[in-house]
Amino acid sequence: MAALGGMPYSSEPGSPTAGVARQGLVFGVEERSGDWFGLLDQCNTRLWAFSGGLAFVPRKESGEPGRLQMDEAVVVIDPGHGGPNTGATGSAGLEEPTVNLDIARRTRDLLSEPRSIDWQTGLVLEGDTIPAVGTVWLTRVEGPPGADIDSGLHYRATLATTAGADALVSIHNNADPDGPFEGPGSEVFYQIADEASRRLAGLLVEEFRRGFAVFDVDWAADTDAGAKYRLRSDGIRDYYGLLRRSGVPSVIAEGAFISNPEEEDLLATPEFRQAYAEAVYRALVRFLTTQDPGSGFTEPYPRTLPAGSGAPAPECVVPQQP
Ligand SMILES: [Zn+2]
Repeated sequence: MAALGGMPYSSEPGSPTAGVARQGLVFGVEERSGDWFGLLDQCNTRLWAFSGGLAFVPRKESGEPGRLQMDEAVVVIDPGHGGPNTGATGSAGLEEPTVNLDIARRTRDLLSEPRSIDWQTGLVLEGDTIPAVGTVWLTRVEGPPGADIDSGLHYRATLATTAGADALVSIHNNADPDGPFEGPGSEVFYQIADEASRRLAGLLVEEFRRGFAVFDVDWAADTDAGAKYRLRSDGIRDYYGLLRRSGVPSVIAEGAFISNPEEEDLLATPEFRQAYAEAVYRALVRFLTTQDPGSGFTEPYPRTLPAGSGAPAPECVVPQQP
């Protein structure tokens, strides 16, 4: 179950109001105590909200991706990083959170209206052969000017799980290439134990390669670019906290290398961001409504460079309703 913002909240059931969450925020509901609901906030901490102050969206009955209609599907799009968590930065100063949020919004907008797709070219067109998706959530919204917000990984994963999402796509852009590799170095990480997540990753890699082929640049890449997994040192569990914590088919997309000046220039353009969003859109349509297997699966070489902790900054506060 998810709850919408614009809501007073407390630190314990029945305790005095501690704040009012900003309109437009969405929360995963994890527990209940009488008329009080326990939510996980953007700072990965527990809040309690009285039922009267909440707008509820019930958890979706689980369906099987590949056999769904678009209008019955729930999708969560996760713009990577945010606020003080800046992710990767290009040499000209373009930062991942801004780009990721814009691409996520474009993806949401594509999903939110009926469309058509020319499957020969991949162009997303006006039309209504593909209905709007049933529900689409973003895990992060823009904060107040000068104070953009982060969202904890636990929060992001919990939102997808409690909403009963059919897919969670986390939008990122990459750094530290070690190519050579022929063509765009798009990477998509999947959940090692989830066959649906793996299929979604393969579809996304196909659609990135199709959508980016029209851009003539010297692409950066890792030698093992494609759809892949990454494991913790135990060799069993997913390395990335978002993939480990999410209970629904989830992938982390690294569409382009923001650290490559040519790709940073591309990522600064609306055309390329739209191409990225359209690739995610096409992959989701195929994942939800077809049984296409995807491709571009690769055996990853071992990695030692650690990722971020996934915890928001210590000064994290839930954005308040002005
Ligand atoms: Zn990132």
